[in-house]
Amino acid sequence: MTRARKLPFGVVGVVGFIVVLIGVPLLAPQFWVTLGNYVGLYSIAALGLVLLTGVAGQTSFGQAAFVGIGAYTTAILSTQYAMSPWVNLAVGLVLTIALALFLGFITLRMRGHYLPLATIAWGISLYFLFGNLEFMGGHTGITSIPALNLFGLELRNERYFYFLIWGIALAALWATDNLLDSRPGRAIRALKSRLEMAEAFGVDAARLKIIVFVYSALLACISGWLYAHLQRFVNPTPFGINQGIEYLFMAVVGGAGSVWGAVVGATLITLAKEVLQDVLPALLGKSGNFEIIVFGVLMVLLLQFARDGLWPWFAHLLPLQTPPPVPEAPPLPPRARPPLDGPLLDVRAARKQFGGLVAVNDLSFSIRSGEIVGLIGPNGAGKSTMFNLISGALQLTAGDVVFRGESIGSHRPFQIARRGIGRTFQHVKLLPQMSVLDNVALGAYLRGSTDVARAAFRLDRAEEARTKAEAARAIARVGLAAQVHAAAGSLPLGKQRIVEIARALASDPALLLLDEPAAGLRYLEKEELARLLRQLKAEGMTVLLVEHDMDFVMELTDRLVVMDFGEKLAEGLPSEIQKNPVVLEAYLGGV
Ligand code: ADP
Ligand code: MG
Repeated sequence: MTRARKLPFGVVGVVGFIVVLIGVPLLAPQFWVTLGNYVGLYSIAALGLVLLTGVAGQTSFGQAAFVGIGAYTTAILSTQYAMSPWVNLAVGLVLTIALALFLGFITLRMRGHYLPLATIAWGISLYFLFGNLEFMGGHTGITSIPALNLFGLELRNERYFYFLIWGIALAALWATDNLLDSRPGRAIRALKSRLEMAEAFGVDAARLKIIVFVYSALLACISGWLYAHLQRFVNPTPFGINQGIEYLFMAVVGGAGSVWGAVVGATLITLAKEVLQDVLPALLGKSGNFEIIVFGVLMVLLLQFARDGLWPWFAHLLPLQTPPPVPEAPPLPPRARPPLDGPLLDVRAARKQFGGLVAVNDLSFSIRSGEIVGLIGPNGAGKSTMFNLISGALQLTAGDVVFRGESIGSHRPFQIARRGIGRTFQHVKLLPQMSVLDNVALGAYLRGSTDVARAAFRLDRAEEARTKAEAARAIARVGLAAQVHAAAGSLPLGKQRIVEIARALASDPALLLLDEPAAGLRYLEKEELARLLRQLKAEGMTVLLVEHDMDFVMELTDRLVVMDFGEKLAEGLPSEIQKNPVVLEAYLGGV
């Protein structure tokens, strides 16, 4: 998921790739042209899985079935209804959207392994549907599919068809690469390991997963449509679950580090299969699909030794590029602020039980706009749980939370984020391989509006420039300007917490929840953080702060709420709390 290199190839790589790409159809023997065509078709379908499985973490075995939808739609419509292949492509895409939406809706909103299971079922049932329906040609298939007609040129020759396939493949790579480097792209990259964080910044993860699933299925459909008109014949075999597994294998081999992983995976698997199918039977003196066994072993080895696929290995051969400084751009529009000094947050008898454990026990407190309130208490008192109840990361067992006059007690985290609550996490939730800049830019998700389609066609550049500039300003503000392009995971943990604050600031929140921001910081860094918080307060920011360092808390906060065993022990000014005998007894151990 490293995206430090914008250009995936060095000059030599680019020239070499173009020479091979154009040389094959013009000069190579027929065999290589055919192989090149298949690699292109597989690349398009595998690209969908690089995005869906590699990047977004949703495993699908059903990619081949969507390829089948594209192939069969045009096969049936062009042979039985004499419809134009180009119209059939549109019909296939619409059909794919409908089917992917349906499958996505019933499986992707649930967490866990529903999608892989559902896609296996979907892959198998579609295979039998293709094979058993009369009008789909049964197991013998459909023949005499017409050749494609492009600008009056009949693409009967595989050498011409090659250019169409690779033109579409390169366009798909370009669009998907654009998508990954955009507002929705950053959110997609968070789906696999940081879903909770993405939702805390306003990403509707369930919806986004469905969109990615549809995008991936559309690529498969296009690949299938091309396949049908290349072969001019379809039968169910290439769309079964075996092929579904092979697409997944291609995506895993290539890895999720770059969209080019799809081409690497498709090329290597296609070539390996070609070689093994010849070599193994000769070697063993028997005929059979022995390559399947070799692939199985390779898959295990790969998952063991090269989890990120083989693309990173290719990328190492290419020259490293230092990203340019982030250009200046006008700020993103600010989000609406509540009037100063009004009531902002009202926690009403909030309760959270984990089984028999009452982590938060009917706790009530409120925060006025512009205040810095500290939430303190011994370890395990329930502070982080209270935070998670406010931000929606945990569901209330009872009670309510009212924010800006509206009950948010039963809202989802992304809905709460949309109402203006920004947060950091006690256990840092950054995307470690992504740059500090991209991590913080994800914080500004709600201040942009670019959707997947705009991002794919690169129509988001003005908003994207503003987002990046905004993120860079937030990073400079917390004192990390020098690390803007560093991978977030390469920073020491204390600094990663500061990146979390920058990300929350980039969301321009009306209420900022900070969970132990000073943990792991050195003295000077704490001073720096205290100065930042004072400055935020001067600007009218409201903050709820959990912190262990008492000097830090006492100096910064307007008011304190003390928790112990999930209950409110005391509430008042820092000076009062410091003298409160109950607090001293329970919390400070009678110091
Ligand atoms: P604090 O942040 O004040 O240190 P927490 O809110 O993290 O405390 O935890 C409060 C109590 O709830 C602890 O006893 C903790 O073990 C328990 N707890 C927190 N989260 C969970 C969870 N997801 N499942 C079960 N118990 C939890
Ligand atoms: Mg905690």
